[in-house]
Amino acid sequence: MFRRWLIAFSISLALTSFLNSCSTSGGGRFDILIEDGKIIDGTGNPWFYGDIGIIGDTIVEIGDLDGRAAARTIDARELSVTPGFIDMHTHCDGGLGRPSSNSNLNYLSQGVTTVVTGNCGGSVSLNAKETKREWEALGIGTNAVLLVGHGDIRSEVMGSEPREATPEEIEEMRVILRQSMEDGAWGVSTALEYIPGRYANTDEIIEVTKVVREFGGVYATHMRNENDRICEAIEENVRIGEETGVRVVVSHFKVTGKNNWGLMKDAVKVIEDARARGVYIVADQYPYIQSSPTGLLQSFISIPRDMEPFSELRGGRRNRDLSDAERKALQERYVEELRNALSDPEKREQIRQLTVEGRPNRPSSVAMWGWHDFTVLVADKNRHLVGTNFIDLPGVRHRDLFDIVVGLILDEPDMLYGGGSQSEGDLRYALSQEWVMVSSDGGAVRMIDEAADPVRGHPRDFGSQTKILRRYVREEGLLILEAAVRKMTSLPASFLQLKNRGLLREGFVADLVIFDPDTVRDNSTYADANRYCSGVEYVIVNGEISIDSGEYNGALNGKLLLLTENR
Ligand SMILES: [Zn+2]
Repeated sequence: MFRRWLIAFSISLALTSFLNSCSTSGGGRFDILIEDGKIIDGTGNPWFYGDIGIIGDTIVEIGDLDGRAAARTIDARELSVTPGFIDMHTHCDGGLGRPSSNSNLNYLSQGVTTVVTGNCGGSVSLNAKETKREWEALGIGTNAVLLVGHGDIRSEVMGSEPREATPEEIEEMRVILRQSMEDGAWGVSTALEYIPGRYANTDEIIEVTKVVREFGGVYATHMRNENDRICEAIEENVRIGEETGVRVVVSHFKVTGKNNWGLMKDAVKVIEDARARGVYIVADQYPYIQSSPTGLLQSFISIPRDMEPFSELRGGRRNRDLSDAERKALQERYVEELRNALSDPEKREQIRQLTVEGRPNRPSSVAMWGWHDFTVLVADKNRHLVGTNFIDLPGVRHRDLFDIVVGLILDEPDMLYGGGSQSEGDLRYALSQEWVMVSSDGGAVRMIDEAADPVRGHPRDFGSQTKILRRYVREEGLLILEAAVRKMTSLPASFLQLKNRGLLREGFVADLVIFDPDTVRDNSTYADANRYCSGVEYVIVNGEISIDSGEYNGALNGKLLLLTENR
């Protein structure tokens, strides 16, 4: 399959150089000419000075194009010119179809020109062709590649029943997936840690994933375990890759829970050993040591669904038409009711049970991951606790952790906490591996007014790629710029076998980003999550400018790239 891709690739190269020779001999006029930039071509090779000429959606010439005519010339002196970034793991599919977030500006502004979405076992649709029609009718700001979720397919066949699938049910799943692949999906994603993926055994995943092989697609997995049993979980996916022949990506590669820190070295070794045997397995990673759930501490505890007045209050909160004052009043009442419920011994016991253990077949996050998975991220009143893992909270030797956390909730209900706590050492070790790509695990967020008040949350939607460029390239020197760019461009393109994208090459599609390597930075933090980054001067999607001198021009130049047309 790889050969077929290579042949298609060489034919298109040959064709373009033919077209080039026609245009250069006539001194052809470019639609866009990018002059004097430091070109980082995406291969990982050192940068060089050069000009890039674009006609239509294609890079037609790279070299010394001094004095050549162009409808638009961009002066890229002192700036880096690279392929547009490809984010290997997002959940943008929900937002791309909505008029408030279809621009995908939080990604576009980072230089991301293509997002891979439909991850973690769930996708907005099983029909990429129809989704393409809908999205492109509305317009989308970035390109997208759609995976379909095994979880959705399984639910369609057998609901969320906690049992293994029968051979007939597996065959039904294969039929649905085959249709999705024919419609242009790029592969299948699983979430083996969550319902219903957790009920699927390895053989089911293998049989279903074999369908993807017929189309040359990929398999992306949120693994069964990202903490104490991570090596076992990787082994499962190595087996899936080995027995199906499908390229595997471990999604949001990480080791969570303080007691498991350090396991990343073993996890990397399992993947390296498999790769040495010829199994195609890679990983993507976001550059934050905290994952979801990232929320207000008051949401950490689980309240029984039928406990009043909480179900009524939850209903009220969902009302989108509330004014800020009404929302605030509702919030205050919620905390007051929480205080009442927790001082009633019977209700407190119910809440404790649900928070610490969960329901049958639905273990709570504490039961699944342990208290050591959680960390205080933002606190105004209890500032001294910021960065503290729950197992290190004051008083933990003498008091029950549930009681300590409840005490904190009542003291500062809008404290922000995060789960999936990793160590910086593990993150850096993974990021140093040449087969690890950059991703975000974020979504398409509605466009934000720069003057809007800070919102607490996860900064990854707005800052993943630029955080890599700022922190791990410029400030810490963990990666050289060329290596970081490769992780965001040709590495994902090659994994996907995405035709003619991910490199700056004559004949390739003109998805480009031009940024200042000395100033590019993420501006989003846990305390102020929705802030656009800075230092990205130009973004070109399919040959059209979207970010122009650092400003979004409102263009919707993206396309949903179907596997059937782009491999
Ligand atoms: Zn996931």
